[in-house]
Amino acid sequence: MDSHYDIAIIGMGCAGSHIVQELLRRKVHLNILIIDDFKAASLDKTWSFWEKGKGKWDHLISHSWKKGSYIMPHDFIGLDIDPYVYKTIESRDFIAFAKAELQQKPNFTLIEDKVQSVSSGDIKKIVCEQGTVTASVVLDSRIDPKFFQDTKATTLQQHFKGWVIKTQQPTFDPEVFTMMDYRLRDAGTTSFTYVLPYSTTQALVEFTYFSKDVVSDATYEKYLQEYITKYLHLTQYSIEKTEQGIIPMTSYKFEQHHRKNHLKIGTAGGWVKPSTGYSFKMSEKKAAQLVDNMLSKRELTHGMISKKFGFYDDIMLDVLHGDNGRGHEVFHTLYKKNKIQTIFRFLDQETSLSQELGIMLPMTSAAFLSAFFKKLF
Ligand SMILES: Cc1cc2nc3c(=O)[nH]c(=O)nc-3n(C[C@H](O)[C@H](O)[C@H](O)COP(=O)(O)OP(=O)(O)OC[C@H]3O[C@@H](n4cnc5c(N)ncnc54)[C@H](O)[C@@H]3O)c2cc1C
Repeated sequence: MDSHYDIAIIGMGCAGSHIVQELLRRKVHLNILIIDDFKAASLDKTWSFWEKGKGKWDHLISHSWKKGSYIMPHDFIGLDIDPYVYKTIESRDFIAFAKAELQQKPNFTLIEDKVQSVSSGDIKKIVCEQGTVTASVVLDSRIDPKFFQDTKATTLQQHFKGWVIKTQQPTFDPEVFTMMDYRLRDAGTTSFTYVLPYSTTQALVEFTYFSKDVVSDATYEKYLQEYITKYLHLTQYSIEKTEQGIIPMTSYKFEQHHRKNHLKIGTAGGWVKPSTGYSFKMSEKKAAQLVDNMLSKRELTHGMISKKFGFYDDIMLDVLHGDNGRGHEVFHTLYKKNKIQTIFRFLDQETSLSQELGIMLPMTSAAFLSAFFKKLF
């Protein structure tokens, strides 16, 4: 390990794999190194996202839906998401595909190792457990430890535990996924159940919080069991797989950790949508912008941040943080007053100002106004 590379990518998870795919798609001839120890749980996730119609990862997706639902104790909102499709991809399959593709290209090198440090200066020295390499540009998935000590940003955790359950009798409608079901809540928190039906007899059922603190395993399991018994009316089922995770939803300004030719990517670079915790599609877009910046010799950060949508995310986070027990009402208004296609466009940061006002105005409450003015000044 004593070579020099044009670009070194630290971490081949969601962001790193998207960048690799984009570099391959653009047939970049630079020397590219990817370093990952693959010890983290990056291979065990089910990544869901929405996009219009056919997409470039369709050969990898495991399930897809054209209909969804948003459920409150007193209201059921059917979501006909056409022309969007809600899709699920196993992180393992996505990363394996990117790996297989890059291994066919002589200008790509993949090293399994853990990065310990990256130096500053024009030539970056990357110290790994098993050796040292240098690179002109570093794209780095490691989250700066300062984030975990920060007390100024508004931060919620999206934390959840889910079971893939199997039933003997047909139980699920595989055509309709449940985005949020608020019939069962942990009082005082924004918490709901998310259901992805894979077939009539198999579904991922996940109890999810957008809250300040994580809870014990026993708490997630209590709610999962209650939901399955009370709302799915099941007494007999087997648990085939467990999925658990924590995704930061934060106003923390990750961009403060970018350095010249050393860009933070993925969660570490603020590529997770703060108000939703989704990052798969956002990472695809950011990877495309980043590779375009590199090929056009622009600043690496060019066009990577939208101040306007960052402002909206901050307001939403503030509202959920300030009155966490009323998140279900905020989301109910959002889903009740807007077409799902408009909500998706808004979350994809593709709406116009007039559409954004149309979304925000019905949600205006004392909490929203207070968050709005707090963020404005
Ligand atoms: C269970 C679960 C389910 C999720 N579901 C969804 C979903 O449905 N939709 C969605 O959009 N998002 C989802 N997310 C969030 C999504 O997984 C993350 O936002 C996304 O993975 C962040 O991308 P990343 O590249 O920053 O990190 P990761 O995907 O975690 O990748 C980081 C990579 O860096 C490597 N790495 C870290 N440190 C080092 C080091 N020092 N040296 C070498 N390599 C290193 C790790 O091994 C890892 O492979 C989910 C998350 C979890 C935990």
